[in-house]
Amino acid sequence: MNNILRLAVQKSGRLSEGSMELIKSCGINVSNGIGKLKAKASNFPIEFFFLRDDDIPGYVADGVADIGIVGENVVVEKDKSVAIVHRLGFSRCRLSIALAKSANYNGPQDLNGKGIATSYPKLLEKFLAENGVNAEVHEISGSVEIAPSIGLAEAVCDIVSSGSTLFTNGLKEVETIFQSEAVLIANENISVEKKDIIEKLLFRIKSLQQAKNNKYILLNAPESNVEEIKSILPGMRSPTVVPLANKGWVSIHSVINENDFWEKIESLKAAGAEGILVVPIEKMIL
Ligand code: ATP
Ligand code: ZN
Repeated sequence: MNNILRLAVQKSGRLSEGSMELIKSCGINVSNGIGKLKAKASNFPIEFFFLRDDDIPGYVADGVADIGIVGENVVVEKDKSVAIVHRLGFSRCRLSIALAKSANYNGPQDLNGKGIATSYPKLLEKFLAENGVNAEVHEISGSVEIAPSIGLAEAVCDIVSSGSTLFTNGLKEVETIFQSEAVLIANENISVEKKDIIEKLLFRIKSLQQAKNNKYILLNAPESNVEEIKSILPGMRSPTVVPLANKGWVSIHSVINENDFWEKIESLKAAGAEGILVVPIEKMIL
């Protein structure tokens, strides 16, 4: 059907939960029964294909799916013709090179002549070429971290988030070669109708991301300090100022950004704010 957007998501793995949570938070209802390969949303023109993450860039490039949610590491490694439409901020991880804990490492040159096991040969080859390193890349599809202990290679190049898997396998991280997060990718020749649906989906995703980065703030202050407090709190337009029953006092409501949150709170206190409440925002539409 032409006006249903086909979205490829990982069937089961480290992206699945984040992908389906994002969809649910966008108000899209879908029941992905265990083992099902396809599902339709009941209240949005979208159909889901549940696939292995490695296959998602290829399916989107070939137009079997219109869009996909996948790790940027896989998008770059697969090198298919797809557009990265939006960064999604979950499944953050890095691709790193690791060596035995006891190995000496002073820089990429120390990898010369070594065998490196990885599931990301393209990303690794690029790093090696950029650093003029001559190493032997062994491509394996999983359990890369055991390669040194079974004598397959001296080094590994693998996905890391906390580093605990490397540590328990007697390895230490020596170089980060790529930083990744989940991204929304799209086919490069998409119809106007489908572009419209993507725009609607993106609008919802962005309002969730905005909400996460901002907090609603309520505080009380003497009326005489309103101007000073207003200059600290620009808000979406300007703050809401409501009189309190207690004469000469007002309640001020506004939105503040997560990035400079504590600096703002300190300035507000210095400007006479009291009874400050900070509340999470569910959605934010600008
Ligand atoms: P599949 O069976 O679908 O091929 P997989 O085993 O290849 O799955 P996962 O381990 O589920 O893949 O990882 C999927 C993606 O999640 C990775 O490509 C990466 O972008 C991200 N990821 C991997 N490990 C982590 C981690 N420890 N923390 C956060 N994100 C991660
Ligand atoms: Zn995979």
